[in-house]
Amino acid sequence: MKIIVATRNPGKLREIRLGLEGLAVELLSLADFPAAPEVEEDGDSFAANAVKKARALCADTGIPALADDSGLEVDALQGAPGIRSARFAGEGATDAENNAKLLSLLHGVRPEKRTARFRCVIALAWPDGRVDTVEGIVEGRILEVPRGDQGFGYDPLFYSSELNASFAEVVTEVKLRASHRGKALARIRQILQFDVKRPEGSGT
Ligand code: IMP
Repeated sequence: MKIIVATRNPGKLREIRLGLEGLAVELLSLADFPAAPEVEEDGDSFAANAVKKARALCADTGIPALADDSGLEVDALQGAPGIRSARFAGEGATDAENNAKLLSLLHGVRPEKRTARFRCVIALAWPDGRVDTVEGIVEGRILEVPRGDQGFGYDPLFYSSELNASFAEVVTEVKLRASHRGKALARIRQILQFDVKRPEGSGT
């Protein structure tokens, strides 16, 4: 079975590939479909955006499509940046600009008040119109200075007490064991293990 992954974010794509490794599934990417339409992420939740991206790509290609919408929720910022995580410092912002904005907004906030979580919703849209959605959440804390140079996005600022490290200080395999995306992908694996074994045309 083929599944197309609806992301242009190389960090996400790498983690999704690793998290679904070993399944009888061939993962295609948007690089295989250069004409695939851009989807505006104008939903008011991670789930709405993930479902929208997965549905649009599945409808365009006729292939089951998987989309990840994710972000960081910081308690001292009332849940911001949330669904605006990718464009926190403005449209087209770099990871460095987003991280700098986060650090400046949290300047002077004590460590125990810097609690935050990453949330990831993955939607898997099927050509018959079904959409499976799963969610993964990981709790952590925003560091005062970046640590590590692996990963992507806010990883250098996100401290996981489970790993006793920032997400940028560990290799991807280790991050996936604790992360929001790792948890969501474990649920997708369960769905796919069932679906790839199901005979063609056996219904929902
Ligand atoms: P999306 O493409 O709208 O889902 O954007 C997600 C944004 O959230 C990314 O650009 C990152 O800034 C942030 N993000 C999501 N997951 C992670 C992660 O695992 N590590 C670091 N940042 C993340």
